[in-house]
Amino acid sequence: MDRLNDSDIIELAARCDGRLSRDVDLSTVSWWRIGGLADVVLRPSSTEQVASLCHWFAARKIRPVVIGQMTNLLFDDAGLRAPCIQISRNMSKVAISDNTAWVEAGAWVPGLARKLMQAGLGGAEHICGIPGTLGGLICMNGGSQRKGIAANVCEVRSVGGSGHTISRDVDECEFGYRKSVFQTNDEIITSVRMRFQPRHRAEIHSEMLTILTDRSSKFPRKQPNCGSVFKSNPTMYADVGPPGAVIERLGFKGKRIGGAMVSPQHANFIVNTGNARARDVLALIAEIDEATRSSTGHRLDAEVGFVSTDGRIVPANTVQLEMP
Ligand SMILES: Cc1cc2nc3c(=O)[nH]c(=O)nc-3n(C[C@H](O)[C@H](O)[C@H](O)COP(=O)(O)OP(=O)(O)OC[C@H]3O[C@@H](n4cnc5c(N)ncnc54)[C@H](O)[C@@H]3O)c2cc1C
Repeated sequence: MDRLNDSDIIELAARCDGRLSRDVDLSTVSWWRIGGLADVVLRPSSTEQVASLCHWFAARKIRPVVIGQMTNLLFDDAGLRAPCIQISRNMSKVAISDNTAWVEAGAWVPGLARKLMQAGLGGAEHICGIPGTLGGLICMNGGSQRKGIAANVCEVRSVGGSGHTISRDVDECEFGYRKSVFQTNDEIITSVRMRFQPRHRAEIHSEMLTILTDRSSKFPRKQPNCGSVFKSNPTMYADVGPPGAVIERLGFKGKRIGGAMVSPQHANFIVNTGNARARDVLALIAEIDEATRSSTGHRLDAEVGFVSTDGRIVPANTVQLEMP
């Protein structure tokens, strides 16, 4: 991929009020603290700016990659040549009226959960401990307690590859378990309309507290990680249990490759012990997947996405590692 030149950068900066950074060290900003340099990260602050950027890229046949807070992404050690559009705090307005919330895609999810509690709206308590943006949550149909955010979604607005705006109702989002149409269609989610049920604030508060206490006792908190690495597959769950239990039974807790280690606290988490590279994490994922397949007959599917230098995002277990 050809690198953007200085005049390209000036044109792009004009389309997002100068909110761009060059040579961003992904090992300091991604949640896993892994990755090389990203050539350029653009941070638009409105749907119009997102559309204008997409239009510019489409005219030059350049495919940007969209990111939120990078809590579910593993970046290539060689960095990112594709331009990156980050939807985060510059687009994070929340408007609540009656039982409905209109929320921009860059809203921080735990903060949104708190605002819903303050408004006496229940139904999304399960998202209170999930780091990341609403756009990332919608793309992944994330959730906890066996729930997904899709249950609250009425409408998702996005910008398509050529810069046109799109509105989808919930059926058109093709939500499934940790899945949505946004994982494959190149659209950038800009805002979401969601519906909730009135509930006493004290009840919401108490449920959130229980969830947060439970999460902090089960999940590693001190070392960088990306949450659960593998998705729970219903057939495998019924047969041999959730991925964490299976991986633990196979003896992987504490197993290290380079700077990556299967968390001794929760076997479905891989932590960065300080100097992990993407290839260490990918090698651990491949070993776990292979051991699970040969012991249970089930294949694991990664929830975490691997971002290659050209900006393609694929499930991390599908990456073929080249021998060094
Ligand atoms: C400690 C920890 C605990 C976690 N616990 C949970 C949990 O309980 N449940 C759960 O579901 N997840 C969990 N996660 C994973 C992660 O937090 C969620 O998937 C989160 O919603 C991702 O949001 P993000 O902004 O970080 O997205 P990113 O990681 O930046 O991106 C994830 C995907 O979303 C896409 N994306 C991001 N923003 C947009 C947008 N505006 N438009 C279109 N596509 C977009 C990206 O292209 C990428 O494919 C956890 C992660 C950590 C680190």
